[in-house]
Order: sequence, then structure tokens, then C-alpha cells
Amino acid sequence: MSQPLLEIEDLKKVYTSHKGVLKRTRTDVTAVDGIGLSIKTGETLGVVGESGCGKSTLGRLITRLTEPTSGAVRFDGQSLFELNQREMKAVRRDMQMVFQDPYASLNPRQQVQSILEEPLIVHKIGSKSERKDKVAEIMKIAGFDPDLGNRYPHQFSGGQRQRIGIARALMTNPKLIIADEPVSALDVSIQAQILNLLKELQGTFSLTYLFISHDLGVVRHISDRVAVMYLGRLAELSDSESMYRNPLHPYTEALLSSVPVAEPAGRQEPIVIKGDMPNPANPPAGCAFHTRCPKVMDICKKVKPDLFPAGEGRFAACHLYA
Ligand code: ADP
Ligand code: MG
Repeated sequence: MSQPLLEIEDLKKVYTSHKGVLKRTRTDVTAVDGIGLSIKTGETLGVVGESGCGKSTLGRLITRLTEPTSGAVRFDGQSLFELNQREMKAVRRDMQMVFQDPYASLNPRQQVQSILEEPLIVHKIGSKSERKDKVAEIMKIAGFDPDLGNRYPHQFSGGQRQRIGIARALMTNPKLIIADEPVSALDVSIQAQILNLLKELQGTFSLTYLFISHDLGVVRHISDRVAVMYLGRLAELSDSESMYRNPLHPYTEALLSSVPVAEPAGRQEPIVIKGDMPNPANPPAGCAFHTRCPKVMDICKKVKPDLFPAGEGRFAACHLYA
């Protein structure tokens, strides 16, 4: 681990929709609200938070599947939002995504071998026979018998389909993989296999991961550091071990208290987070979490907390650490 491979600076995305008969009612949702992060080469950064907090939008902004409202993303020395389409296409070779539902992202009429070959054709990599060899190599590494290359996605189980999704992401030898809820649709036993595969591949191919999940239990074992999001902002950024041992932000603490633990004896009473997540189109003033926070203070209702340093390499957007 050394230089940052990815640097995100004050990134923002506002979705605007118009409703009503005359489309005059305008609603703005700030899905990502000023996020700053960096990820070092070889690192796994986990991104967690409840559904709707902006995790997928963050991933899509980095790859420019969604265009940002403002901010900057630097990847491997390039400022991505300044690139034209052709330059961005070249970057996508080094930056691949894995999605929650591989079935939705795999063409049902394509055989696995042509699904896997496609990224090589798109990026004009290799001759026909080199491409064929690469497909066989990656299938083997992803845990497939290359003889199954002529099958179609529906002939595989959910876990195997996610192996195909991962294999496809690996075809171009990327540096960064953004995995958005890659195991959330799978049974727990299969989740562990896919997480192990991702860990193994990271070693084999020196990959850097941005690993998105709403499930803190899933993120824990794979992540070096974890970013906790709430309503489009970072609540906490910590190395994984410290965060799970000693969460800083009251939101992280509450999230963690509801994750099942291996030793039931050490289990504490879950902290119930009061109420529902606020409407993202109309977030609370001050700290967005103050309406649900067990440790709320007066200042929290008025002043939006910065991301304060709180221990070595740790940060919390909470006035307790001001
Ligand atoms: P997560 O992945 O954490 O569940 P998302 O990034 O999907 O969160 O969504 C964050 C917020 O942005 C939500 O309030 C969601 O409704 C809104 N949102 C996401 N995509 C769009 C879109 N294409 N148009 C309008 N609003 C969107
Ligand atoms: Mg999502």
C-alpha cells in the first residue's frame, strides 16, 4: 500500500425531478453531499450505510456512469471529470464494476465465453486466439471449468453467476474494482465463497477494491478501512479493526449493535435507532443524524459537523469529536 490510486474531492450529486401536472414542483435530492476520500493501491475500502444513503451513486459517479454535480475524482493521476468520452473509455479498462445482480447485467442470450470475451473486443485487446486463452485462464481462476464456456447465464446458480460477473470485471486486468453489493443477493454460505474469491483475486492481481454494502458484517472481513455513510455524507472513516472494536460515531455504534456476533456472551443490547431515515429531499438541519441520535446535543440541531480527526487515521462527522 502506497500512493492513493483514487482520490475523491468534495464530490456532490443532486438529482432533480419535476412533479405535478405542470411539472412545476421541483424536488432536489442530494444523493452525495460533499464526499472526500482516498484509496491507496492494494487497499480495500468498505462503504456502508442504510439503503438510500448514496452508496451506489458514489460508485456510479467514480466510473461516470452518473455525471456529477460538482467535485473531482482523480484516478491513477488523471482527473476523470475533465476527460472526454474516448479518454474515459480508456480509463474504464482499469476501473471495472461488479453489481449486486449479475443476472441483470449479463446478456441472457450470450454464452459465458462471449460475455467474458466482450470487454477484450471493446478495448481491442489481443488476437482471437489470445482472447480465447485469456477467457479460459480467467474462468479457471474464478472457479469455473472452462468447458462450461458455451453455457448461458440461466444455466448457472446465483453464486456462479456472480463468479461470471467477477470474471468479466477481471478480463481487462483492471487496477480498481468497484463492487456494489456484490454478495447481497446470495445465501450466506455462498456469500462467504464469493468474499473469499474476491480476497484471493486481490492477492493474485494486486487489485484495489471499493466494496459497497448495506451489511456491516459483510464489509468487516474484506475491508482495510470502512467509510460509513448517512444521507449522502460520511459519518465515520476508520480502519476496519478499530471501527468494529470502538466505533466513533453514534450512528456507527447503532449500526454495529445490530450486527450478529460470533460470541453471544459478549453481545450487548442492540441500540435501536429511533424513527425512520429522514426524507433525503428534506434533510434535517445541522447534523442529519440528530433526529435519531441517542447522544444528540444542542449544537447538533444547528451546525453541520465537519469530518473531525479522532485518533490515528480515524475521522468522525460528530460534534462529540470537535
Ligand atoms: P444506496 O445505494 O445507498 O441505496 P442510492 O445511491 O441508490 O443509495 O440513492 C441515494 C439517493 O438518491 C436516494 O434518495 C435515491 O432515491 C436517490 N436516487 C438515486 N438514483 C436516482 C435517480 N436516478 N434519480 C433520482 N433520484 C435518485
Ligand atoms: Mg445501492
